[in-house]
This record gives sequence, C-alpha cells and structure tokens, in this order.
Amino acid sequence: MPAPALIQVALDAPLDRLFDYRAPDATPEDIGRRVRVPFGPREQVGVVVGLGSRSEVADTRLRDVIAIDRALPALPEDILQLARFAAAYYQHPLGQTLLAILPPALKRTRFRAPAPAAYALTEVGRAAVAGLPARATAQRRLAGLLAAGAVAAGELADLRVPLSAWLKRGWVAGADLPGVDGDAGGQPEPTADQAAALAALAAQPDGFAAWLLFGVTGSGKTEVYLREIERVLARGRQVLVLLPEIHLTPQMVERFGRRFPGRKLVSLHSGLSDGERLAAWLDGLEGRADIALGTRLAVFAPLPRLGLIVVDEEHDASYKQMEGLRYHARDVAVWRARAAGVAVLLGSATPALESWANARRGRYRLLSLPERAHADADLPTVSLVDSRTDKPRQGVTEALRQALADNLARGEQSLVFINRRGYAPVLYCRACGHVSTCPRCAAHQVVHRHRGGYQLRCHHCGLAARPPEACPACGSLDLAPAGQGTQKVEDTLAELFPAARILRIDRDTAARKGAFAAMRTAVERREVDILVGTQIVAKGHDFPMLTLVGVVGADQALMSTDFRASERLFAQLMQVGGRAGRAAHAGRVLIQTEYPHHPLYAALVRHDYPAFAERTLVERRQAEFPPYSHQALMRADARSMTEAMAFLERAHSLAEDLAEGVLLYDPVPALMPRIAERERAQLLVQSGNRARLQAFLTPWLARLRDEKSAGLRWSVDVDPLDW
Ligand code: ADP
Ligand code: ZN
Ligand code: ZN
Repeated sequence: MPAPALIQVALDAPLDRLFDYRAPDATPEDIGRRVRVPFGPREQVGVVVGLGSRSEVADTRLRDVIAIDRALPALPEDILQLARFAAAYYQHPLGQTLLAILPPALKRTRFRAPAPAAYALTEVGRAAVAGLPARATAQRRLAGLLAAGAVAAGELADLRVPLSAWLKRGWVAGADLPGVDGDAGGQPEPTADQAAALAALAAQPDGFAAWLLFGVTGSGKTEVYLREIERVLARGRQVLVLLPEIHLTPQMVERFGRRFPGRKLVSLHSGLSDGERLAAWLDGLEGRADIALGTRLAVFAPLPRLGLIVVDEEHDASYKQMEGLRYHARDVAVWRARAAGVAVLLGSATPALESWANARRGRYRLLSLPERAHADADLPTVSLVDSRTDKPRQGVTEALRQALADNLARGEQSLVFINRRGYAPVLYCRACGHVSTCPRCAAHQVVHRHRGGYQLRCHHCGLAARPPEACPACGSLDLAPAGQGTQKVEDTLAELFPAARILRIDRDTAARKGAFAAMRTAVERREVDILVGTQIVAKGHDFPMLTLVGVVGADQALMSTDFRASERLFAQLMQVGGRAGRAAHAGRVLIQTEYPHHPLYAALVRHDYPAFAERTLVERRQAEFPPYSHQALMRADARSMTEAMAFLERAHSLAEDLAEGVLLYDPVPALMPRIAERERAQLLVQSGNRARLQAFLTPWLARLRDEKSAGLRWSVDVDPLDW
C-alpha cells in the first residue's frame, strides 16, 4: 500500500510550526492553495506549503483535510518565498504571516466566488427599467446610476438600492470597472534633471537595482515614476506602486488613471470592501492588472509579471506595521525586487536616514531632482520667528498674525500647522502646578472642546472624563487648559480674524467617512481662507492657492528622548512647507521657535536635507544608533511592572550565552510605562551586523516560547521605529 499523501499546512496559530493533514488526492499544484482543515474543535483556513508522505504525528492522530480550494489560483512560489523571508526576518510564525497577507475575504472558511468590481445593466435590465413606475423610487435611482454604464461595486454598496434583487432577476451583471478618460498625450517634457534620472534608469541592465529618487516636493518625482512605469509597461510587465495613505491621496490614484487610459489599474488598501479588495488582488494574481497601487500590505500582492516597484514617500512611518507581523514595507519591497530581479525606485524629499546612508554607501543609486519642475514654482521661503522676543499670544506671534492678515487681504489661502489635536495638551492647576493625568495610563489627559464645555481625553487608551471642578491635589478652583491644540488655535484665529472662513482638519474632524474628501473639495473651491491642521493635511495635497504656512509648537519634538524625533520633525516640516506655493504663487513658511539657531531649523531654511542628514548621521554614528547598528526591541506588558520586568530579566539571562556580537541592554520601563492599566517594559538588543542579530534572535526566541506566565504578553519588533 502506498504511503498516505500528506500536506503541510500553514495556519493562523501562534506556533512556529506547520501542521500535517491527510490529503490523498493532493498534487504539487496544490502548493500555495487555500485549504479548510479541522483544527481543535473548529475549522480553519490555511495555506498548503508542502507535500509529504511521512509525518511525526502518529497515524491515528492525523486528520483529513476538509477541502482544497482549487477554484482560485494558488499563491505563486515567489510570494511563498517572500512570506518565508518576512516570517524569518521579523520573527513571526509563517502561518500567521501567510494568513496576514491574504485578502480578508480569503480568510473565511466559506469559500465563495469573488464579487465583481463593478455592475452594469444587462440587455434585459435595460428594457425592464424603461417601464419602471414613478413610485419605484429606489429602483429608479439604481437605474439612473447605471444609465451611463458600469458603476464600481463600492459606489453602490452604501446606497439603499435593490442590487441583489436585480441580480436575481438578471437585470444587472458583474462587469469590469470603466477605464478613466486619459490625457496621456498631455505629459510635460522632462526637465534636464528628470531626463538625466530617466536616462540612468533606462541605461541600467535588466535585473535588480535599488534607486533612491531624492527631490523636494514638486520637483517632479511622480513624473519620473510615470515615465519609468510607461517604459516597463511597454515591455509587458506589471508595476507595483506603494503609497503611504491612499485614502488621503486620491489625487495620486486619479493621476495614474488619467496617465494610463488603456491600462488596468487596481488599488489595494483597507478602505475597500472585502469583495473589491479580493477582486483587485485576483486581477493582480491572474495578470490582468497592469498597475497595482496600494498601501503597505500591497507589497505582498502577487504579480506574476512584476517589472518594477515604486515606493513613494519611502520615509513615511506608515510603511511600518506596528502589530502582528511588524514589517517595514519599504524594506520588504527592496527584498522582493532583489528576489524578482527587478528595479525598485524609492522616492522622497526627505529620505529615511537608513536609505540616505545606503545611497552614500553605494547600495542604492542616488538620483537627484534639486529644483521644482515648474519653472515658475520656486521653493517657498522659510523664515523663523523668534518667539522669545515676539511673544506668542494664544500661541500666535505678531509676525504670524501679520502674515495671515496680509494673505487674507490678498485673498490667498493659509495653513496653520500644529501637530496636536484637541484644545490644549493639559489641564493645569495654577495654585499647585498639578496637571491632569489619565487614571489608566502614564499620560496626560488632553483637553477637548465638547458640547459647549470641555472634556478630558486620553490619546492612548481613549478614556474620556468630565474635567474636575477643583484640583484633585490641592482643591483649588483655579484650573485652566494650558498650551495649544488645533481647537484652541482655531478659536484664536476666529477671534483674530472674525471674517475669515476657517477649517480645522485633524483626526477628530476627518474621522467620518468622506469627511476628508469634502474638506479637500472645500479648500479647492476656495471656500476656506485659513486651514488649521495636524500632519494629515501635509500629506501629498496640492492646493495651488495656499501661499502661507505657519508652524506652531514644533519645538517640542526637539526635546524628545526618541532619537528619531528630529528626523521625523524635519521630514514633517519639509512636507508641510511643500504645501506652500505650488502653482504660480510664491509660498512662505513661518516657523515659530524659541531655538532659532538650532541646526535643524537652519537646514530647513536652506531646504538643505543633505546637510541635516549628514549632521544627524554623525550623531547616530557616535551613539551607535541605526543605521550604524541594527536593533530589535522586545516589549512586555503585564498587570504589574514587576511581572513585566521579571519576564525581561529572564529573557536577558536566557540570552547571555547566545549573544556573541550582540549588545544586550538591561530591561527598562518603556517610555510610556503604563497604557490602559498595563505596565510596559522593554529590552533592546543591538548589533553592528544584521546577520549576527538575526542569528541571535532565532534561537533566543525559541527558548522563550516555552516560558509561560499568565497575564503577560510579549513581542519582538525587528528594526523598531517606535519606543
Ligand atoms: P513630486 O512628485 O516631486 O512632488 P510632481 O511630479 O507631482 O512632483 O510634479 C510637481 C508639479 O510639476 C506637477 O504639477 C507636475 O505636473 C509638474 N511637472 C512635473 N514635471 C514637469 C515638467 N517636466 N515640466 C513641467 N511641469 C512638470
Ligand atoms: Zn492644585
Ligand atoms: Zn489612558
């Protein structure tokens, strides 16, 4: 009798191993396919990663696979490899990694055919809707929507229209999304710098190459992507484009659509319905999509004809996943490009210092666009307002007030940038100095405006509370909000400029679906004079009439104990400054600061990222921080700090005999030592050699897997960005 055929299945289980199941009819073609298997008392979805005939599990305990999904194509080998790499590098179980990269619709145990991307009227439907009675309002609305042709499924999803009834009657059927009308002919002649970059890209022989496209906002980086993409598409290949936050940058998607009218473009991000996402993913996997635009998870999208990966705003922190599989999409993109033998193009006005260092060492090839592409769109002038002499009133200095007044008089738009939402960062007792803190976290409570009064909110655990009448420490009634948040700045501006139309954009106002797009439209239609916002306004918007940016409260980041804070601040201020004066109108940036001589601001005034980067890299080298070392951070949290620390002490002692060439720090309480009543501690390990660190982590973590402690949670973050 032949040995029973077995499949090795990766499952979403926190165990770093595969599971064997009996599958007599399995063939090598099933590798990469989804399966339904019994797991404990329930069914789970898994992915077949291998075949075998012998198992370490006793024959009597082996269970049968329930079903192999042969309706959908299998995950291709290169994606399985990519998942193996990510699982190993980020120290995450392969099963959880594979299940994390599948579209959500494929994680369900009910295997269903994917929903179509769009719907269109059938011939029967067209005839039928002509005779709809006037009172059938919902039906007539649907008929109206579909009259001009296919409509995206997502656009119909939220409306109360009888779509499923019509599907049953055969009035509508699934259809492809209509292409966007293009103006591919109207592309600008490349500038000399763009032409040089494109020539360098074209001269590169086929195969892996990593390029860093460094250019200020408006220098024409996107134009370079588009031309290079065109060249790659012409060779019959697919292109993957990663963007930090698609929901904030619909303009970018529109621009790609217009540029490649005959091509199939799909987007992959969490704002889509499960059905839309699956359809887009399958378009990629089955080779129909030419361009896939997506957020970080799209780096794992199967694209059998992949010819180029573009990572826009490669420095953006949203490429780093903070939970579960803690990967960095830019780094995975570079790995994937190497494995696939294709080019990866990383673009930024303020590259991550890791990328800059890689370019300096020749691992990435540097392409520079030092000037703005439009001849008449100069870089904004950046100036510093010394807030020690020009004392701010309610957060606004006289220089900024005057500049805003001038702009209003000219009918131009302004943006006041302050990276703190809420009314004020703390509630402060003027008698004893007590500040409001969250009872559940080691954090201040932020004062928010709420129904004509105030509310205290914790930005870490979400707890909201009514402000106390009297100081809990001394009983004084002299409590007042201290400092500035977006809401307070909004109030101040309304007092200073009663006639101005002011719009605040932060996570509180943009939370509602569609709110962000509506605000953008209002700004474009010039229904707004002054925008007040956090960094979410700074991302990739093009507001041609915006000519002044005022920056309030930036100094705070200079005081941070996080060694990456200044890098982040520089990038943020460059980006927000880049909003000013993008069309024919010159822009101005005013930064209020008590440290007008700080080298970070000096570099900003000169738009001199390289100077900032060089100086910061010297500091990093002296401190042996990344990119001159590689780090992994073990975090633990528990009901008490003692427990969290005890676990890390144990981890530390289990590491000592393994840690050759690796620096083990002592466990310490985290920067934010308590969140939502969990005490948090961390242990940093570091090495000058990435391979050494990897060689250490694997056996170390294997030892820890058997360490159990009730109520304790721990995780490891390789290349952490956050503390
Ligand atoms: P970035 O991606 O670096 O911010 P973009 O590619 O978006 O820059 O270009 C900024 C602006 O300049 C856009 O309005 C774009 O249409 C325009 N632009 C880009 N390249 C050229 C060019 N070669 N000639 C004229 N205008 C250009
Ligand atoms: Zn007090
Ligand atoms: Zn809290």
